[in-house]
Amino acid sequence: MTTSPDKHNYLGFTRSRMTAFMVELGEKPFRAGQILKWIHHRGFNSFDEMTDISKALRIRLAELGEIREPEVITERVSKDGTRKWLIKSASGSAVETVFIPEEGRGTLCVSSQVGCALDCKFCSTGKQGFNSNLTAAEIIGQVRIATRVLASAYPERERVVTNIVLMGMGEPLLNFDNVTAAVDLMMDDLGYGISKRKVTISTAGVVPAIYQLAETTDASLAISLHAPNNALRDELVPINRKYPIEALLPACRRYAENFGEKRTVTVEYTLMDGVNDQPEHAVELAELLADFPCKINLIPFNPFPGAPYKRPSMIAVRAFQDRLVRAGHAVTTRTTRGEDIQAACGQLVGEVEDKTRRSARYKKIAAEEVA
Ligand code: SAH
Repeated sequence: MTTSPDKHNYLGFTRSRMTAFMVELGEKPFRAGQILKWIHHRGFNSFDEMTDISKALRIRLAELGEIREPEVITERVSKDGTRKWLIKSASGSAVETVFIPEEGRGTLCVSSQVGCALDCKFCSTGKQGFNSNLTAAEIIGQVRIATRVLASAYPERERVVTNIVLMGMGEPLLNFDNVTAAVDLMMDDLGYGISKRKVTISTAGVVPAIYQLAETTDASLAISLHAPNNALRDELVPINRKYPIEALLPACRRYAENFGEKRTVTVEYTLMDGVNDQPEHAVELAELLADFPCKINLIPFNPFPGAPYKRPSMIAVRAFQDRLVRAGHAVTTRTTRGEDIQAACGQLVGEVEDKTRRSARYKKIAAEEVA
């Protein structure tokens, strides 16, 4: 399908943007709701069938824009039911979207960027380098595609996607406007109607954007901490050198003030054997977060080709979790899913045409290791 850069893509229009657009066209504001329902509830791509709006408006909409979903290149299904789609962005590169079915719920993991500009040492997306931001339409498009495919895969479930996490490829807060527009549509009843508790934006810690986020949305927030001190975090999550832990935690605290309820920030901590999984790390982490309202989500490291780290044993993971629990923290360990199709956390690579030189550098290092 050809792309038309000067045409609107209504797929990414939030309720407020569509409403303003209707007013601009001299239409009644409530038309926006009708159009959004055709797009997101009924999944229509053409204006002809929008029978509750006038012919004149339908023609105008088609002149000024289109409803264009990103293209699915492949779909893979893991033996555990996890699904992964490779989805083409307008940039020509492709990103990955993952669906993880569980008893009574289903989580969709959505990408926000083609590649990632941050270079977290244990993440394979980072090794791909960075290409571009996804548009709001390309982000919400992943939800629309998954919702449609899954409705036929799980006809018995009334709602298949119950949770959405922005934990796919990219750093969501470095693509702020497009991500917040898409998140708005995920939570809007005229869009996908998912509760704000069940839509989670995950960040490696872009501190100014967390403050900005507090002004923009009330979706849930997760932070990728991965280390209990700056020395180790500087190494694993290089953005920490710019926004250290003592800047990150207050920003999250400020964000959580918006919740006004029992909802807390999620702290993600990927456990790497011998790196950040030792008893002293657990003790230090428990202290660091002692009066920080959060739940801790431990992620056993998922390997990828050339990765310099190893997954700790389940015994070590359990021991780490127990220490935190004994210190009074709420802790869960993320079950690894979809590993056979490289769909687990940190394994998403898509097809990124790198605009930095990072992927070439990394491939060279990996090749030297093998030699
Ligand atoms: N850039 C955002 C969104 C990515 S979310 C962020 O950093 O939060 C993906 C989560 O998986 C992050 O917590 C990330 O740090 C973690 N992760 C990355 N690589 C991983 C790996 N190889 N194994 C386990 N978790 C990993």
